[in-house]
Formats: sequence, structure tokens, C-alpha cells
Amino acid sequence: MNNKDTIHMSINEFKENGYKVIDWIADYYENIESYPVLSTIKPGELRKSLPKNPPKDGENFNNILTDMDDKIIPGVTHWQSPNFFAYFPCNATGPAILGDLLSSGLGIQGMLWASSPACTELESHVLDWLVDMLHLPEKFKSDSFGGGVIQDTASSATLCALIAAREKISNGKINESGFDNSIRVYTSMEAHSSIEKAVKIAGIGSKNIRLIEVDQDFAMNPIKLREAINKDIKNRKIPAFVCATIGTTSSSAIDPLNEIGEICNEFGIWLHVDAAMAGSASICPEYRFIHDGIDYADSYCFNPHKFLLTNFDCSCLYVSDREALIKSLTINPEYLKTEVSQSDAVFDYRDWQVPLGRRFRALKLWSVIRYYGINGIQSHIRGHIKSAKFLSDLITEDNRFEVMAPTVLNLVCFRYRESNQFNKLLLNELNKSGELYLVHTKLNNKYTIRFSIGQTNTTKDHVLNAWKFILKKTEELERTMVK
Ligand SMILES: *Cc1c(COP(=O)(O)O)cnc(C)c1O
Repeated sequence: MNNKDTIHMSINEFKENGYKVIDWIADYYENIESYPVLSTIKPGELRKSLPKNPPKDGENFNNILTDMDDKIIPGVTHWQSPNFFAYFPCNATGPAILGDLLSSGLGIQGMLWASSPACTELESHVLDWLVDMLHLPEKFKSDSFGGGVIQDTASSATLCALIAAREKISNGKINESGFDNSIRVYTSMEAHSSIEKAVKIAGIGSKNIRLIEVDQDFAMNPIKLREAINKDIKNRKIPAFVCATIGTTSSSAIDPLNEIGEICNEFGIWLHVDAAMAGSASICPEYRFIHDGIDYADSYCFNPHKFLLTNFDCSCLYVSDREALIKSLTINPEYLKTEVSQSDAVFDYRDWQVPLGRRFRALKLWSVIRYYGINGIQSHIRGHIKSAKFLSDLITEDNRFEVMAPTVLNLVCFRYRESNQFNKLLLNELNKSGELYLVHTKLNNKYTIRFSIGQTNTTKDHVLNAWKFILKKTEELERTMVK
């Protein structure tokens, strides 16, 4: 039993447990390759192992660490394993974890500048740094008419951009009096599902989204975009928002921003650019071509939590006209009014996002950028993209396989030249082994295996070993299918 005069953890006890937690995390990283990458527990298995009721009296913190080992770890899919090649990466690094811990330690709530000035000012500052680091347009900087803000995810960033566009095109009428069902949104057939989700949440309705056809490399076809817009205008609809993708989820396709931007410009349509995965690559001069035409964008987002060594959650949204965003999301009840806010001297980031409250996320990003420096981040990204090219070449050389889309950055899409069913079985066998984790997509209606390289500690050797393992499993499966 606790024989203390307070129910809280004392400073000494906090230190003692804190060191243990850091040790626990360090051991986890040291041993991470010994776990099956994909968790093997059955639905409900973890809950069955937990007590039905919460404890009446407090427990020793040690018990929690014991249960982390015994109960939680078996139910974890190891996103930080260097053999995790599924989805897109979800980076974690030492400096980001520690930066996030500092944020937890401060425990501030940065909804307004005045509710903790450092939270707002560090965020604006670091996001301005990133404009330079990624060579984004100057109009996205806080000292021009635009600015950047950290959101939880790209889904939220897209939603906020869409709401700003919706208000801009209706002169604020939709916020006031609701919908007339005439607004249209355009994105490619290969765009992320979060666009359709945003359209639903914003009340525009999924029947008002036009999925534009793609070319042979899975990038949006601008001729088809123009056709769709013209058709809608003829039908007295209002084209309001185009979302272009730089690095689609299925195949890392790059939509042609110059052509799309010109169309948006001509018709006065808001252009949002979703570069959630790929945007970070632009920190390397040789990959800046992915952003050709970015000057046309009204808003842009990318996720440092995918490729920029920063723990989830961290998605950067930039707008070129911050007034449009703020007008669409501002609320000002009496209890949130402060003199400095009304003076326009500061940003109140509550007006740039859906929730009111916000964490001090800039700390982890600041910590990462300072620890690695631009050179460190560049060499990290170059390493991963080189590994992807290396893998893509290996696959191309083996004519039993085919690469299904250009390997532009860190994603390799391939299939064994056999039925969809065979490839599905193969993926299943690979993931069941626990050696690695991959997911699939469909390209041109063919079952395609996605090999996404981006976990912090993944090296070329991990990629080579994974490829050898894929070959071994493919040959095994061929043999069992023959008999
Ligand atoms: C990952 C991804 C998203 C969704 O990201 P969240 O941050 O999880 O919302 C959207 N678009 C693209 C292109 C992505 O790669």
C-alpha cells in the first residue's frame, strides 16, 4: 500500500520511474527485430487478459511496465521495425520522442497565443524554416499573407483547406446559412480516401466529388479535369476545389501541378496539394521537381510524421491566404477574448484547425530539425530513395516479376507474373512469417504488392534481405501450387 501524504507521484518517484521508462524504450528498440513485425494476436485476446474492473487502490508503476512486456507488446504491430514496409512509414526518432516528452512535461494547451505564447511562436517559426528547407513558395510564410500550422493529420489539413475554399467561394454564406448543393470538388481516381471523407464532413456530399481519370503513370489527366469543370459549369454547378496529389498512396504518382494549376487559375478554383508522404523529399534539391508548379497552390500539406523523422502526429498545412482559413474557422466567445488577439499582432491557432485545444507539437519538430540539421535529414531521405531504386532494379532484372509503376521516390510497386490469387497468397505467407510486413493495392486491376521504405532504421541490407525472403517464399509457393 502507498504510505504517502499525497496521492501523486513524488518528484523522486517520477525520476526513478522516468529513467526506467527510457530504459524500457531503449531496450524495445534494441530488440525490435526479434518480434514478429505484424502482431499475431486474435481479436479480443488482449482484452481477455486484462482485469474486468479498474483498480480500487493505486498500484505501483512497475506493474505497468511488467504488463507492457507481457500484455501490450504481443498486441503491437511494430511500425518502428526496420522490416516494416507496409502502408507508409510512421517515423519515430530519439530527438522526436524526447521533444514530445518535453511537450507532455509542460502540459500546456496552446489554443491562443496568450494561452502559451511559446507554443504559437515556435510553431510559426519552425514552419517558416520548413518553407525554406522544402523550397516552398514564400507566400506560405507567416510574414506574408499566408502561414503554416501543425495539424494532427493530412486528413484534417485537407478538411480545413476545403472549408476555407468553400467559404471563400460563397463569401462566407455557407457558414451562415448552409448549403445549396451546387459546389463541386475534383481530385484524381488515385487520390487518398481522406479527400472524399473531407467532402462528406464539410457537407458538400460525396456525389459532388469528381474523380478525374489518370494517365498510364497514375497521375491526374489535366485534359479530363478541364472537361469535368466545363461540364459542371454548363450545368450551373460551382467548381470550388481541386486536390492534386504529390505522391499517391497506391503508387507514389505525381499529379502535374503546372497544368492543373493553370486550370485552377483560369477558373478561380482553390488548389490544394496533398503531399503527405512525398513532400519531405523536397528537402533534397534533386527531388524538388516533385513540386514543379507549387506556386499555383492555395494550400499545401505534408506529414513530417511520415518521412521527416518526427513522431506521429505531425502534419504541416500551409495556406497562401490565411484570412480565408481564419474566417472560415473562427469563433470568438467572450471567455476566449484577449486584448492581444483583438490587436491582430499574433496568430491564434485555434482559428486554423477544427479543435479548440492543441498540443505543443512544434517541440518535437524543432528538436528533430536541430538534432539532424538539413544535411542529416537529406542524407536520411537519400538513403531510403536509393534503397527503393536498388530494389526496383533487382525486381526489373528478374523477369518472373514486374514493377507496376515508376519508382519515383521510396515506394516500389510490384507483382509476380501470376494470377491475383497467387500474389494474394504470397503476401499472406510473407506477412504470416513475421519477418516483414507489406500491404497491397490494385493497379490497372492487378493485385500489386507495395514495398514502402521509410522506417528510420531501415538500411539497404534490410531491403536486400526482404527481397531474398520474398524470392524464397515465392519459390516455395510455386512448388506447393504445382503439386
Ligand atoms: C498518408 C496519406 C494521407 C492520409 O494521412 P493522414 O495524415 O493519416 O490523414 C493522405 N494523403 C496521402 C497522399 C497520404 O500519403
